[in-house]
Amino acid sequence: MYINLSDLKEIGGKKEFNQELELNSLKFAEREIEVADLIEINLEVFNTTDSFLVKGTITSKLKLNCSRCLKEFIEPIELAISEEVLKEEMEDQSELFIDEIIIDNIILSLPMKVLCSDDCKGLCPQCGQNLNEGECDCEIDTIDPRLAKLKEFYDKKDS
Ligand SMILES: [Zn+2]
Ligand SMILES: [Zn+2]
Repeated sequence: MYINLSDLKEIGGKKEFNQELELNSLKFAEREIEVADLIEINLEVFNTTDSFLVKGTITSKLKLNCSRCLKEFIEPIELAISEEVLKEEMEDQSELFIDEIIIDNIILSLPMKVLCSDDCKGLCPQCGQNLNEGECDCEIDTIDPRLAKLKEFYDKKDS
């Protein structure tokens, strides 16, 4: 997607750019992230002496997989953008290609390990049950020693 800058020739000038961008997925290194909604782009471009300053927000929804319980979930995002593009690095100063700016900002906003929620309980290491959806019947050996006595007590009581 290009922002037309042919009407932003004046130093100190400013231009608003509001658009929706449709991308199905973002590829970055080995990561591929699915985009679940249009990417709403609300930017202002400022013409400074030797660069164009791009500021604003992008909002969308991403389809992510929790790295703890592996479940797919939708994560709404709203990112503040602030980028400076040097004029000497632009092939053509009458337009600005912004896809990379948008993709880089989204990818860099994501942690290496995304979680469906901060207190995601993950999967049972023995049976694979998603512990957010309920407890499983596995005996977990790593019992707090302070509780071990209590467990002994209840085990005796049951038998
Ligand atoms: Zn999770
Ligand atoms: Zn289990």
